Amino acid sequence: MLRWIDILKYAANGAPKPDRKVEKTAAEWETLLTPEQFRVTRLHGTERAFSSAMCERFEPGKYQCVCCGAPLFDSGEKFDSGTGWPSFTQPIQENAVAYRKDDSAGMSRVETLCNVCDAHLGHVFPDGPEPSKLRYCINAVALEKVESNEAKATFGGGCFWCTEAVFQRIKGIIDVKSGYSGGDVVNPTYREVCSGRTGHAEVIEVTYDPAAVTFGDIIRVHLGTHDPTTLNRQGADSGTQYRSVIFHRNDEERQIALDLVKECEAALGKPVVTEVKPFSVFFPAEAEHQNYYNENSTRNPYCSVAIVPKLAKFRAAFPALLRE
Ligand SMILES: [Zn+2]
Repeated sequence: MLRWIDILKYAANGAPKPDRKVEKTAAEWETLLTPEQFRVTRLHGTERAFSSAMCERFEPGKYQCVCCGAPLFDSGEKFDSGTGWPSFTQPIQENAVAYRKDDSAGMSRVETLCNVCDAHLGHVFPDGPEPSKLRYCINAVALEKVESNEAKATFGGGCFWCTEAVFQRIKGIIDVKSGYSGGDVVNPTYREVCSGRTGHAEVIEVTYDPAAVTFGDIIRVHLGTHDPTTLNRQGADSGTQYRSVIFHRNDEERQIALDLVKECEAALGKPVVTEVKPFSVFFPAEAEHQNYYNENSTRNPYCSVAIVPKLAKFRAAFPALLRE
């Protein structure tokens, strides 16, 4: 997660390289954009506050650059700042936005630009909400909303190497990320989380297509492929970072999770300790923890001892949900 210290560093030394670069002359941009889009994005203009209904819209989806189509922000990071411009706490990825010191208009600010085509987007300020405390104040005219029917679910059931391997094999799952959630520390490291002092649980965050797999299916697999009856423990792994937890994003998800926990309790005939908590923020784990089983199954004996039996159990219990 980017914080103000990162923004100042990127403004001074340049942001991480974009995935691609788009370069056009001013005359070429002028033919592709409306006069207002051209004025704001190519001539560093500012639209009138409250000039767009985009400020009050929070439906799921992505916001891309109106000039080049590069993805810039996700609606999950959009918030109501009351300023009259669409506001976000984070870019969609660290290399999406470029930063430049802007001392114009008698102020010292940091300008934000599309990192792919250098379109002026707006500015970023260190007065946003926790935990990033950033406020990306963006001209609505520089953005194009792309509707999306992708949803996210975040939950923990012990070591994320294991849970990630299971969910990568389910149909309708678009992406699985290992990380940390439920604690108090911003951008925790694996070592910090393992100390048990950050309050975070090892979790995975799955992006899924609700038309192919439901939140209920995902939670059913989650409860069916780890032991939800052992407090702060999965097999030999012990500590609060291995607790069983489901994070919900709305009341409907909360109710589904509570019902399935009850159902699981009845089926097992003993108390289930899985916590059902509101989702707040997900911090991706370090790169070496992503796609762990697929990358390390032949090298790390933990994979054959802990993960292989778990995958066999999953394949036997949920044949209808298997990716073909
Ligand atoms: Zn762009």
